Amino acid sequence: MHDVIFEEKKMKVRVRFAPSPTGALHIGGLRTALYNYLFAKKMGGAFVVRIEDTDRNRMVEGAERYIMEALRWSGLHPDESPEHEGAFGPYRQSERELVYQKYIAELINKGKAYFAFDTPEDLAKIRSEYEQEKKTFKYGTHNRIGFRNSLTLSSEATEKLKATVPYVIRLKIEKGAPVKVIDGVRGLIQVDREEIDDKILVKADNMPTYHFANVVDDHLMKITHVIRGEEWLPSLPLHQLIYDAFGWDAPQFMHLPLILKPEGKGKLSKRDGEKMGFPVFPLAWEESEGFKERGFLPEALMNYLALLGWNPGTEEEIMNMEKLKEVFDAERIQKGGAKFDFEKARWINHKFLASEEEKSVLKRFPEFFECFPSDWSEKKKKALYGLLKDRLFLLEDFKIESQTFLKDPTAYDLKVLDKIRKHNPKVIVDQFIGYVHQEIPPADWKLNIQGWNQTAGFPFGVIMQTLRLALVGSLTGPDLFKICELLGKEITLRRLEKFYKHLNS
Ligand code: GLU
Repeated sequence: MHDVIFEEKKMKVRVRFAPSPTGALHIGGLRTALYNYLFAKKMGGAFVVRIEDTDRNRMVEGAERYIMEALRWSGLHPDESPEHEGAFGPYRQSERELVYQKYIAELINKGKAYFAFDTPEDLAKIRSEYEQEKKTFKYGTHNRIGFRNSLTLSSEATEKLKATVPYVIRLKIEKGAPVKVIDGVRGLIQVDREEIDDKILVKADNMPTYHFANVVDDHLMKITHVIRGEEWLPSLPLHQLIYDAFGWDAPQFMHLPLILKPEGKGKLSKRDGEKMGFPVFPLAWEESEGFKERGFLPEALMNYLALLGWNPGTEEEIMNMEKLKEVFDAERIQKGGAKFDFEKARWINHKFLASEEEKSVLKRFPEFFECFPSDWSEKKKKALYGLLKDRLFLLEDFKIESQTFLKDPTAYDLKVLDKIRKHNPKVIVDQFIGYVHQEIPPADWKLNIQGWNQTAGFPFGVIMQTLRLALVGSLTGPDLFKICELLGKEITLRRLEKFYKHLNS
């Protein structure tokens, strides 16, 4: 992406994330925001957020708030946005109507855009005629002469119609050489002009279309690099033609590969998440839980998303935001789609959880630690989290992992029980009960039991399994002696005695 124009003019990098508030931000959109953010930060530039809300029919209540909140949670703080005013606002397209009016007038005056009066019914009819002949209808250079527009009607008729019937404004695509555009990820893209519609720039309700508002705003907001999803790649030649019509330099473009379903075929959808039990939104939306609610650290999700379509060119996989800003290199964005892999995301989260300080996790994510008994001290909470953190992939796992400590076992793993019964485990349990009574600290139990066992002669595995079964009910869980320490004398004794009784039954 080291284009000549960019290098020569030494422009300050300005990128934008331009979501439409038509629903929650999907992780694909969040990854687009992240790449924009990383690119801006790496280049010492600005990260702008612009809300593209000109299509009033598709607006969803609460979506803009959700998007801004999701960016905040993710740590992608905009330099300019509807909430962070800068020199190029307003940053909500619905507040920029006058701007679009001015620029559409410019195109009309230059003869680069025209009024079209065809009714939706007229167009539907002709479209179906084309379809019958297995052709795609395009309103453009080759056929616009056959329609009702300001290029075919006299100026008097045009003025009259404008006063009485709804009209749209279309881009006038001239005949000529194919349109050539460079995409930073895909390379050269070339399209014949006949393949491109005289796209509508302003709709009958006087609102600009996405294409028109997007180009005008990118120009006025001095955007140097447009980094967006691959679904916009087909619009790129059209956007280039709009820049040309104004006589503006276009920014550089990078279209990001799709995020694919885990099995690799097709775009990842909300339904895939529902079917396979993983989130696709950063935060909860309607009835869907987000990554946040499942217990992802935002920095872990950002690390995972960064690697979904890009790699640093080294073996390094665990990178916090500071590191990502330092190593992000847009040249390494891959062309092919990236398969979503929830296990990998969990693994990355696990790594972050293991390295984060106990105190900070308890403080940052209190919603996952409501299961602590109310009389537990901060120290005890910290100790339990510390004991379990290596076992957590998501913060939500804590609730299950901590059960061992909060509830006495109600059943014992039968297979293990059968196995140890052959060895007279009551003697072992009795020995440990003795340690509790003698107030021997659990940290010394291992040494004591080893000494005792020199004459008792139990297989050491049986000793440990017996103790574990008594305390936890199964063979899972962290270090046994640490468990005892945390449970304290009273509970440890209660569990040992309960198990002793169970062995009698
Ligand atoms: N408003 C468009 C969207 O939500 C943005 C496309 C672009 O970045 O140009 O996908």
